[in-house]
Amino acid sequence: MKVQRHFSLRFVLGFPLIFAIAVFVFTVKSHINIVNRGIDNEYQRIEEAIQRTTKVIGALDYSFTNQYKSGKVLYLDHQQRVVDGVCQIWPIDALLLAKGKALEIPSVDIDYMVVGSEEMCDTSSALYKSASEKISFAPILSFLFDIDEYHDSVYFIHKSGYVISSPESVALSLTKSLLSTIKARPYWQLTANNPDKVTLSGPSLSMIGEATGKQISMTIPVFFQAEHQGMLAVSIDSERLLNAKDDNLSGRFSIINYTSKPFPPNAIRTHKIDIEGIVSNHALYYELNYTGELKSFLYSEKNSLIMILIISLFLMTFLFYINSNVESDYFKELAAKDPMTGLLNRRGLEAFWATEKHSQQFVLVVFDIDDFKSVNDTYGHDKGDEVIRFMAKSLKNSVRNSDVAARFGGEEFVVYLRGDNTEQMHKTLERVKKQMCEDSTSVLPDGFTISGGVYSSNKAEEGNLETLGDFEEIFKVADEKLYSAKNSGKNSIVF
Ligand code: GH3
Ligand code: MG
Ligand code: MG
Repeated sequence: MKVQRHFSLRFVLGFPLIFAIAVFVFTVKSHINIVNRGIDNEYQRIEEAIQRTTKVIGALDYSFTNQYKSGKVLYLDHQQRVVDGVCQIWPIDALLLAKGKALEIPSVDIDYMVVGSEEMCDTSSALYKSASEKISFAPILSFLFDIDEYHDSVYFIHKSGYVISSPESVALSLTKSLLSTIKARPYWQLTANNPDKVTLSGPSLSMIGEATGKQISMTIPVFFQAEHQGMLAVSIDSERLLNAKDDNLSGRFSIINYTSKPFPPNAIRTHKIDIEGIVSNHALYYELNYTGELKSFLYSEKNSLIMILIISLFLMTFLFYINSNVESDYFKELAAKDPMTGLLNRRGLEAFWATEKHSQQFVLVVFDIDDFKSVNDTYGHDKGDEVIRFMAKSLKNSVRNSDVAARFGGEEFVVYLRGDNTEQMHKTLERVKKQMCEDSTSVLPDGFTISGGVYSSNKAEEGNLETLGDFEEIFKVADEKLYSAKNSGKNSIVF
């Protein structure tokens, strides 16, 4: 039997490690794919929201233009007051609701306010007239403001400086000085320059309302009979729009006007906003946060990671187990086998003998090459080794698998044969000896002869270990017969 080398420690530790690294890399890659897909989905959601707001503005623009056309004056259900030089006009909710509106309809808070200079509260002023022409349009602002939660405010700024805004709270925050400078802001001109388009601006401080610095505005100019009347705007809380979803993306989304600001260093997956009907120099990006990403990776992939760890440890333990088993087999073999010929050595044969039941008759023969010393002397020790290997091979080939051949050191071999007929087995031994002597010229020019001594079991010993002597005794009998073969001229077997 060929002796197998056991695995090296490097393999036992390295193979599970390489396996773990490979599966880990695969897990990381698939996690990155999931994150990327999540980012794609968010970009799609955000763009769809912007598109929807574009429609809102389109609807506002349409209603407003028609309002101009109808020119109705609806100025009955409102209250007005002057605060710090600002005229505020707001609806009386109860009256609005009483106008035959069924209360089953999902309720929308009518929440708006018109603010302008003090003069607007004077019912005979041109400003009062202008504002009153537009007031019936104001509830629509309220409805549209309500549509999406990320809308901060929806408002109309008239060129003469008054503002209709929903919700009311935004209008309330407008001071006299703010109202006077509102048209001087860059977005006013920018919006006026893109008549049929929605202009996206920000993120910045709000044009009106609370200044969080996160508002983006979508604005469209309003024209009547080719004359610029003012602008409609939807102010969006970018934080609420971009990070509305609570999923397993740990980074945050941001929007940037890339012509005015560089992307921050941790920005990845930059995505230009390109929506029909919108003028913008904006892009979305994902702010990569390594610790957050690592935490989310560990959290969402914890099962896979635990599996990798368990499988690797199992693999390592398994290899260690195999290794120690192969190792012990290897050493067992080393102890039982003759390394030069691969036959059992004396210890191996004795181990075999200990388990053998001898349920059939058997012969035990000791073969020894005649005058082997002179082979060594004449042809050298290497040639002597070759002769020993030749003899081992011949013996192995000439006995059955169930028989056992062993080398007892030097050029002395022991063969154990089983059979039903002792005569037959003696004949086999003679034949084997004859054949080997004949074939020996293939390894030595003059060939060699062998002698043998045989122990043959008798009927009484068959399957009866009690009456059978131990191995030492049996071997001694055979060895003595070999001795007598040597003394009686060699080249013979003594039975
Ligand atoms: P006899 O006919 O009485 O057996 O004479 P012999 O010369 O063969 O005598 P014996 O069997 O006692 O000698 C064994 C010799 O075999 C002695 C030793 O030099 C040689 N020998 C023992 N082991 C090895 C070996 O592994 N390789 C080689 N080449 N020679 C060995
Ligand atoms: Mg000899
Ligand atoms: Mg010998």
